[in-house]
Amino acid sequence: MIVMKFGGSSVRNADMIRRVVAIARSRLEDAPLLVSSAMGKTTDTLVLTAAHARDGDRDAAFALIEKLEATHHAAARELLADSGGLERALNRHFEELRGLTQGIYLIRECTARSSDAVLSFGERLSTLIITAAARDQGIDAELVDARRLIRTDATFGSGAPQMDGTRRLIREQLRPRPHHLYVTQGFIGSTEDGVTTTLGRGGSDYSATIFGAALDAESVEIWTDVDGIMTSDPRVIAGARTIPAISYDEAAELAYFGARVVHPYTILPAIRRAIPVWVKNTSVPEAHGTCIQAQAQGSGIRAIASKSGVTLITVQSSRMLNAYGFLRALFAVFDTHRVSVDLVATSEVSVSMTVERDVDLAPVVRDLTPLGEVSVEREKSIICIIGRDVFRRAEVLSRIFAAMHPSPVRMISLGSSDINLTLLVAESDTVPVLRSLHDRLFAP
Ligand code: ADP
Ligand code: ASP
Ligand code: MG
Repeated sequence: MIVMKFGGSSVRNADMIRRVVAIARSRLEDAPLLVSSAMGKTTDTLVLTAAHARDGDRDAAFALIEKLEATHHAAARELLADSGGLERALNRHFEELRGLTQGIYLIRECTARSSDAVLSFGERLSTLIITAAARDQGIDAELVDARRLIRTDATFGSGAPQMDGTRRLIREQLRPRPHHLYVTQGFIGSTEDGVTTTLGRGGSDYSATIFGAALDAESVEIWTDVDGIMTSDPRVIAGARTIPAISYDEAAELAYFGARVVHPYTILPAIRRAIPVWVKNTSVPEAHGTCIQAQAQGSGIRAIASKSGVTLITVQSSRMLNAYGFLRALFAVFDTHRVSVDLVATSEVSVSMTVERDVDLAPVVRDLTPLGEVSVEREKSIICIIGRDVFRRAEVLSRIFAAMHPSPVRMISLGSSDINLTLLVAESDTVPVLRSLHDRLFAP
């Protein structure tokens, strides 16, 4: 069997959904499970809807729901000659969404749990339409609610899948077979008590490999709006090229350090069962795409990614000199506040660490202060260069540092893994540094 995941831009309107159904049809022999995201920017709109309701702006919230209603009904009517049944199902969902939004408005509070309930509508609506469109084309399509399949903990907003329970649920309920198309939602799941959760923004890719691993899929395909994983974000670097094959560890680093094309957790379930993950373009299905697998041929620089909105925290203390236990005390603070640290650099008297912008730093800084003098620098970017067997070569390093000029580098991390070199720069230098690095490292 295979898993095919389609992202928001791949299902953004009736035309795209037609393409998606055609791609699925061409793969019916392979017993496919189709996992879909919400249409276009629906999830962003739902986030705004909940925020307006919470802030007491009922009209703005309901106007956004009407907008979503219009785009979903338009797609339904364009796709089906007789769209009555589908439109009634859409209406029932929109009624439920209105009810929820009204509830948030009345109590002026949107908990992470309520937010997940609201966000789940995006995927629930898109998959209703896709299933109906596939059935209308004569495909034996069956919609299964992912909340019956993906079991997560109760961390609303970023539910952690419980792999064993999830695998059991999926295997009990799905029997993939040729000429049958299962359709389900990415991004959503539920707790043991049946409460709706989400896996975090962009999480449909992760859903896809969770399904793939549970069903021992031959491959997982991530269908998106670019020709595969590229040497850099093609929206920033005009000359970015598609990478035909990349290893799991390289792809994981790339995803973690900012290449949105696959969600950072996507690779994990695939690694465990050695399932190849393909990244392909819904609008150009004949293009080769990228294959993410255990071993990828070749060495050299593979890609450059960037992640902005990074904050640098430095703790300076002479107590570090010849002392042990200092780092443990320091990291215990991050542990207590459940803040994850990306990069770390130490000197004899100081430690610098990066965290993401949306972290609430006040309690962290308060608890770090007894350990030393704490400084916080905001608006930084991580630039991550990924490659194999290259970072020990002086000539490569000198090319990288020549390309950085004249942008000051605030921090460097090399050596913890053989496959990446990570640099911290000012956020405003991100694009010029990316362009300059790409020009020098991927010169034609
Ligand atoms: P989807 O809606 O299909 O999940 P996303 O918007 O999440 O799609 O991811 C695809 C986008 O990722 C591309 O449009 C591209 O701008 C961005 N991207 C960032 N880095 C890369 C990269 N190295 N290779 C390809 N795409 C990248
Ligand atoms: N629709 C969700 C989001 O926009 C999940 C996804 O597309 O992967 O975050
Ligand atoms: Mg995505």
